Amino acid sequence: MTIIPARRYGLDQSKIENDRCQMPSFPGTAMQTGDSPETVKCPWCENPFDVIPNSSASGFKCPHCAIESSLGSLRNPNLNPNALALAEFTSLAATENVYRSTAAYVFIDKTGVENVASGTVVEFGDLRLLATVAHSVPKNLDSIELVKRSKLIHPSRINCVTRRVAHTSLDLALFELDPNSLAQANLEAVGVDRILDAGVGNTSRKSRLCGYPSAHIVENHLVRGVRAMFALCYGCETIEASRWKNVVKNPDSLKSDLHVVVEYNPDVVDSTSVTLPVPSGLPRPYGMSGGGLWQRDSLAKDDEIWSADAYCLFAIQAAIFVDKPFLKATQIIHWLKLVADNYPKLRGDLESRFPRLASV
Ligand SMILES: [Zn+2]
Repeated sequence: MTIIPARRYGLDQSKIENDRCQMPSFPGTAMQTGDSPETVKCPWCENPFDVIPNSSASGFKCPHCAIESSLGSLRNPNLNPNALALAEFTSLAATENVYRSTAAYVFIDKTGVENVASGTVVEFGDLRLLATVAHSVPKNLDSIELVKRSKLIHPSRINCVTRRVAHTSLDLALFELDPNSLAQANLEAVGVDRILDAGVGNTSRKSRLCGYPSAHIVENHLVRGVRAMFALCYGCETIEASRWKNVVKNPDSLKSDLHVVVEYNPDVVDSTSVTLPVPSGLPRPYGMSGGGLWQRDSLAKDDEIWSADAYCLFAIQAAIFVDKPFLKATQIIHWLKLVADNYPKLRGDLESRFPRLASV
């Protein structure tokens, strides 16, 4: 059986592209605790209304036009008449960009069952490491196969993981890859300059999750015996830690120095402009574990040419909540610590780039 990840596509949760927004254009957003009413503006009908941010981890419905918008869209309404077209173009460009560094891998688990998971390839000098989760436990290194990222069929297996280090309680793992395997798999590593210690993420900037859902494996794709895998790039917003109490009953199960939470809700996904041979809508995220969460390191300025290269890896997708449409990811600083602990020669440079590393 040959496996090919044939295509990528994007789905978006929030309707307005926040990447292009300026700082809050509507008064009332500064210095709020989230427990008191905050005046926001509907990006659709442009009417103001009050929300209590901490009362919900989801979006809020406008009382005037009944359209629900994410909190980031309400705080930073993009009233540009071309907002939707711009959002579509930036979404496509960002998807194409982060897709280049997103790997799918197939592995045989300890019970002999084949599984799929995702990861992001990062380069540190000569080293090529895959940032992924620990819960995708392979039987052995030889059972891990990197999937070629291309429309082309690659006839040979790409067994290229020379070392695997896992931190089980944090659900993080790194794979050391044979550097030659990236060209074979048509993957591009991101440099350390595209890693961002963004904590729980910035709600006012669009985030993107890129990975390979198991639900999007297509059997006998074009040719009998060929399986294709389709990456999903999901546009979403991070949720402030003060709103996480609406996601979990036990507030201690989520930690603001460790986790990132985003909504993953088929009800609010609003566009799927590409027709592909996969089920429409938002798939269950299984297989996307290990996929990267990306966010820009700053808001685009008015006179700046928007570039997808500004998207930085800030968390690793780990789990979906049992009964709530939210995903939990792990902040990238903890994966960097795993790197520093296992490659001591990198520690100095990493600690100077990421000051929080010394204290996590
Ligand atoms: Zn409205």
